Amino acid sequence: MDNKDLANLIFPNVKGVEYYEKIYPQRNLNEGAIVSRYAPSPTGVVHIGGLYQSLISKKMTSQTNGVFFVRIEDTDQKREIENGVEEILKALDDYDLTPDETIGKGNYGPYLQSQRKDIYQSYAKKLLEEGKAYPCFCSQEELEKIRADQESAKERTGYYGKWAKYRNMPVDMAIKKITDGDSYIIRLKSPGNPDKKIKHRDVIKGNIDMPENDQDIVIIKSDGLPTYHFAHAIDDHLMGTTLVIRGDEWLPSVPLHLQLFYVLGFKAPKYAHIAPIMKEDNGGKRKLSKRKDPEASVGYYKEEGIPKKSVNEYLMNIANSNFELWRKQNPDKSMYEFPFDIKKMGVSGALFDMVKMLDVSKNTISGFSAEEVYDLAYIWAKEYDEELAEMLEDKEYSLKVLGIERGNKKPRKDIAKWSDLKYIISYMYDDKFENSSEEYDYQKITDKDEIEKIVKLYFEKYYDENDDKETWFNKIKDLSEELGYSREVKEYKANPEKFKGHVGDISTVLRVKLTRRSQTPDLYEIMKIIGKERLLKRI
Ligand code: GLU
Repeated sequence: MDNKDLANLIFPNVKGVEYYEKIYPQRNLNEGAIVSRYAPSPTGVVHIGGLYQSLISKKMTSQTNGVFFVRIEDTDQKREIENGVEEILKALDDYDLTPDETIGKGNYGPYLQSQRKDIYQSYAKKLLEEGKAYPCFCSQEELEKIRADQESAKERTGYYGKWAKYRNMPVDMAIKKITDGDSYIIRLKSPGNPDKKIKHRDVIKGNIDMPENDQDIVIIKSDGLPTYHFAHAIDDHLMGTTLVIRGDEWLPSVPLHLQLFYVLGFKAPKYAHIAPIMKEDNGGKRKLSKRKDPEASVGYYKEEGIPKKSVNEYLMNIANSNFELWRKQNPDKSMYEFPFDIKKMGVSGALFDMVKMLDVSKNTISGFSAEEVYDLAYIWAKEYDEELAEMLEDKEYSLKVLGIERGNKKPRKDIAKWSDLKYIISYMYDDKFENSSEEYDYQKITDKDEIEKIVKLYFEKYYDENDDKETWFNKIKDLSEELGYSREVKEYKANPEKFKGHVGDISTVLRVKLTRRSQTPDLYEIMKIIGKERLLKRI
């Protein structure tokens, strides 16, 4: 009896590695094309860090004409949540991060690990045949005993070397135990020597030397499914991954992973380990946490009405800090034209800053047309804010409102998210205007009679709804002069004792009277849209 018999006994019916090597041929890509992937486990809500990783993978592959695929790692079936897979794929679609290949499309599938059992077992069988893997019959108690012995002998814990109880069990005995019905798992027979170092050159983290792995890790669990490590090596080999972009919690596993690639006879991919997104907390820094931070989950942005484009732009910002300058210089280009450099990513975690994100979003939204703002805000409102949806029902009027100071050289930048929009535009709607607070700030001119006088004179003598902007503004200057205010701000500043105030104070009075806000976009445009009849009602 030899290793072959053992392998046949354990995996009698698998298709075998030759079969799989043949049906997944090498990808035919141009030189330099990167194949990368996002490989989430469907174990919870989609995390912003997942989008971040996908964005980076998508960017790296698209700018080299490579392939971005998504593989679902569902081998830990106890931890799986309902609809986990659908939600991941939906989130990626929602954020324009649709993979080139995933469940349902692509020639290197299945892209769901639980459907790849025969593949993993075929490779495990090969390792068994070659004596590079073995069945391990350790019970939980035995494992605990090994650990206790290691601790009392002050030795490294784990399943390795002389401690690996079944590593050198003769094949006959193993076969006998299996035929007797003993339960087992399959372990790697690690060839590593921890006194030797492997040299790892990480695309992001740089050169790191780590001791070789000597742990006989589990490769196939008792349910017949592989562990993450084993599946990673096989899948990324068969799927032709050239660059593994993943969270840096996996960095310590690199020696093991390189060993697996070596033992299996595969060429190893390159690795880029991304530091997690961090958050400032009490003066310190910590990982953005799904449990503590609502903004960690992708659903938050949807609920708040932060457009996907803003989220992507912000993520690109934290991935490559020079993106901000590039964006300034190329306001109209697609983010995908930005020459992203993965090597420029920070070795330690980028700080997530909501204020900055909203700032980026204001900037992003300022580049939208009124039509785009309308469409996105209306879709959002129908789901999250009935009142806003009602306001937006009159599309023609809403487009005028949303078009104020838009599409020009210096577009308005006051909208960061759709959940702010109702407040921002409410004075453009008469019922909302009437219900708004009477206690608004007139700022400089506070005397009631003076305010009445300004407003009355303006509407009796100067206002004409057909005026163009220049005439409109000149009339406000005329009004200022008539009432003892300077026509220009600088005139007033030069001789403050000569005037009651300046033209700006007069416009503020009109602005506040007509909108009950001391700050609005262009008052001329606002008045044009509201129109004479409704303006007169407001005074
Ligand atoms: N399923 C692993 C995770 O979610 C994937 C890591 C990898 O990208 O290889 O962390």
